[in-house]
Amino acid sequence: TVTNLYAALRAGFPADLDATAIETDTGLRYTWRDLERGSAMLANELRGRGLQPGDRLVAQVDKSVEALMLYLAALRAGLVYVPLNTAYPDAEVEYFLRDAEPAAVVVAPARFGRLSQLAFAAGARVVYTLGADRDGTLLDRAAHRSDVHEPAAVGLQALASIIYTSGTTGRSKGAMLTHGNLLANARVLHDYWGWRPGDVLIHVLPIFHVHGLFVAVHGALLSGSPMLWAAKFDPATVLAWLPRATVFMGVPTLYTRLLAQPGLQPEACAGMRLFISGSAPLLIETFRAWQQRTGHTILERYGMSETIMLTSNPYRPDARFGGQAERRGGTVGFPLPGVEVRIADEADRPLPVGQVGGVQVRGPSVFAGYWRMPDKTRAEFTADGWFRTGDVGFFDERGYLTLVGRSKDLIISGGYNVYPAEVEGAINELPGVAESAVVGVPHPDFGEVGVALVVPQPGANLDPQAILAALRGRLAAYKIPKHCALVEELPRNAMGKVQKNVLRERWRDTFR
Ligand code: ATP
Ligand code: MG
Repeated sequence: TVTNLYAALRAGFPADLDATAIETDTGLRYTWRDLERGSAMLANELRGRGLQPGDRLVAQVDKSVEALMLYLAALRAGLVYVPLNTAYPDAEVEYFLRDAEPAAVVVAPARFGRLSQLAFAAGARVVYTLGADRDGTLLDRAAHRSDVHEPAAVGLQALASIIYTSGTTGRSKGAMLTHGNLLANARVLHDYWGWRPGDVLIHVLPIFHVHGLFVAVHGALLSGSPMLWAAKFDPATVLAWLPRATVFMGVPTLYTRLLAQPGLQPEACAGMRLFISGSAPLLIETFRAWQQRTGHTILERYGMSETIMLTSNPYRPDARFGGQAERRGGTVGFPLPGVEVRIADEADRPLPVGQVGGVQVRGPSVFAGYWRMPDKTRAEFTADGWFRTGDVGFFDERGYLTLVGRSKDLIISGGYNVYPAEVEGAINELPGVAESAVVGVPHPDFGEVGVALVVPQPGANLDPQAILAALRGRLAAYKIPKHCALVEELPRNAMGKVQKNVLRERWRDTFR
């Protein structure tokens, strides 16, 4: 039996350890043996410094293969890996350091001065640096360690990682994920998405979140598939790599940026097997444009830090749903095998097909709770053990789940529920609209009303009043925003998600 996630991932490495595991856009090449030895040396270094299983290791470093090895080393040593978004300024890092109370911290060399002091104040015994180009103290120190390391037999219940949520709806919470959570999800995705030897993954996502760190990396490692690896997303690089790759994972903005490349043609994608999108809603326009331009249908899936992946459109016919194989744009597909998903009302009573309600889930990848927030954890689970995702959606007769928004973004206008996603969908279909966001703001008569922020397509000449007028007849009157404004862009966090809390704050006095 498996007692450490690393051992399970390691078992997926190909027999030829000298084959390429990772090739970077900077021209570096790493073999499977490099990953095994490098992570062993790092694990030995961390243990040699006195870190014990269960200790937290915080890493706020640029994306690099060494940073990936650091994650693998933490798994091997039984440490709890806590990656932080590199965009967080010192003040935010301070909050995370105090919250996580790490035994060791790894930071970018340029930020060592300030962050090492904050880390020290938070009780960390060791602070290393790791740069984007193999520089820093971490690798220097690990260079003296043995390159053999037996993964700690911590057991599948042990914590492997704390992932801080993206902070789209408020302050980030630390989601505690166990070795078992991660392994269960990795195996399900491996099967459901048909990972196989010979696959080549284009990896251009950050590795401080579930999408890039777990979904992408675990998929590739479990099937012994090499990765083409870039620290930053550059559409031209991806385009150049497509003919050599089989799998691509991206957030929706990556797809729109690729669509802006004239070189995106069917020939470039001829060898591709799968394009996956997630982390934020994929516009139906993007889904359709991608089909037209490449001949491929993007597979959209849904998950979150607290649960890893929950649902997916089918890769091949799904016997559980009558053999349906259609990837339906605008939906997030079926519950993954072993994952239970239900729609419930405010009182946690399950709702029938077609009705909109809270998305609740149960399954082997559902997290062990919020780090040091027992009350919050209790509040988000129902009496019978379902986790309230905070997302709102419905199932159709065919079994596909559609998300209509987050419960926190729901607008209650004059007593009626308005789902922003529906209104945004109607606005996005109007000519000249690139994208939009609808948020609720206080209103003296209706309690709350929608404000629509619309980004015009380049060169389009839009009139906010005409947009609202065009919605009449398409949407019930109570759903139509009471105010519309044109904006150059929508505020997004590092994961490409629209920050509605920022918009709500900015427009809250519209009717006062
Ligand atoms: P916070 O919990 O701090 O507010 P967050 O929920 O954005 O931030 P994550 O855990 O990174 O943090 O993101 C999970 C959320 O992303 C889901 O709850 C869901 O709202 C959204 N999401 C993920 N995949 C999809 C998708 N395919 N379509 C729509 N939304 C998605
Ligand atoms: Mg969330």
